[in-house]
Amino acid sequence: MLEVTDLTKHYGSLVAVDDLSFRLERGDFATLLGPSGCGKSTTLHIIAGLLEPTDGQVRLRDEDVTTLPPNERNIGLVFQHSALFPHMTVEENLRFGLRLQEFDGDHDDQIDRFLNLVQMAEYGDHKPTELSGGQQRRISLARALAYEPDILLLDEPLTGLDRVLREDMRNEIRKIQEEVGVTTLHVTHDQTEALSMSDRIIVLDEGEKQQEGGPTELYEKP
Ligand code: ADP
Ligand code: ADP
Repeated sequence: MLEVTDLTKHYGSLVAVDDLSFRLERGDFATLLGPSGCGKSTTLHIIAGLLEPTDGQVRLRDEDVTTLPPNERNIGLVFQHSALFPHMTVEENLRFGLRLQEFDGDHDDQIDRFLNLVQMAEYGDHKPTELSGGQQRRISLARALAYEPDILLLDEPLTGLDRVLREDMRNEIRKIQEEVGVTTLHVTHDQTEALSMSDRIIVLDEGEKQQEGGPTELYEKP
């Protein structure tokens, strides 16, 4: 579904991502785990088409998308900095995403379906500022899923939420992901989060892959 090959990104003399390769099969929930500055965001931004790699390739559904602009890749984004549009209602936020991605199909139906999925059906007319932090995350997720992306990219999606809510949201995100069946690449520096959410973890340090495997494989070795 997603194949990243020999990906490299230089910022001047700094090597932010160093010859990174990995692949995700359909329906996988994988996490890039590593400390701040290890190249997680850079990798996601390159996959999303928001940043050009210095070298390497990104293939999505067997198509080389390395040089395609973001709107020609069918990718769902939930980024720390990709907030909801504050002047639009919840429903308008979802509708905007569907239009932007030129979703083929009934937009009203999709909005209903995905607001229901994140248990926010009652909130279509609300403005984002009227919602709690957790509710805003759910709407961001619904907006990213509504146009049925080939892959969902989650960049530290739980940052800024309190501990209890973070634990609830981990389970909730995973439940929704499984229900929709969307292939997901998640990024975090939080080991607990990575372990509790992922089918597979790719450990990064200084732009290089250190290890890759299932949560038990990686952390329960003698
Ligand atoms: P992470 O998401 O793991 O925190 P980043 O991908 O944001 O890591 O950053 C990887 C490295 O690249 C860091 O050393 C960071 O300071 C550097 N970096 C990120 N973006 C830029 C940029 N636009 N210009 C220069 N250096 C950058
Ligand atoms: P994130 O990890 O979510 O990208 P950051 O605060 O690390 O958040 O980065 C915010 C923005 O600043 C990003 O667009 C990133 O590319 C850029 N950035 C990060 N590190 C540097 C750096 N050393 N020099 C220039 N820009 C940077």
